[in-house]
Amino acid sequence: MDAIEKLTAIFSRFPGIGPRQAGRFVQFLLRSSPSIRRDIAESIRELGASVFECPECKRFHAGEKNTCSLCANPSRDNSLLAVVATDADLSALERSGTFHGRYFVLGGTISLSSDKANGLRIKELVSSLQERLKKGLNEIILAFPANPEGDATAARVKEELQEFSVKVTTLGRGLSTGSELEYADPETLKNALASRR
Ligand SMILES: [Zn+2]
Repeated sequence: MDAIEKLTAIFSRFPGIGPRQAGRFVQFLLRSSPSIRRDIAESIRELGASVFECPECKRFHAGEKNTCSLCANPSRDNSLLAVVATDADLSALERSGTFHGRYFVLGGTISLSSDKANGLRIKELVSSLQERLKKGLNEIILAFPANPEGDATAARVKEELQEFSVKVTTLGRGLSTGSELEYADPETLKNALASRR
């Protein structure tokens, strides 16, 4: 495999990127100046060295400490826990400015084609609950995208939470069907949170 084929194969593994788009990325890099290529390579190296996964919410952050700034913030509300699919969804909720509880990033949604929950942190979520309940948790908000994958994930997580005496809610449908949290505007998210049930 030559350098072009190798990089094309790497980009093809990115979410939503097919071989043709991957090829275009490689062409772009070939036409770019060596300093741009150096910057990109350097940034990728830094990702590994300076970005950590928060042990509590599991999101990636570039903080100095292990625990991210949200989880380390003592003024956040321990009684609420929002379970989201991705880091981007967490950021969207945070941007809406109406949620002041804690977060947990599940790492994706269940794929309907395989019906597998591979790689989702359901076990980690469940095993963190004892500690969270001690700290006053009384409601878990399942904040997944309003699509079949999001619904399947919510159903699965609900099942796993049955043994705990904690209220489990899902976002209200202020969020239009099919919409990704990541792209929802703050007002919509505010309404979806307010109408959760
Ligand atoms: Zn965190």
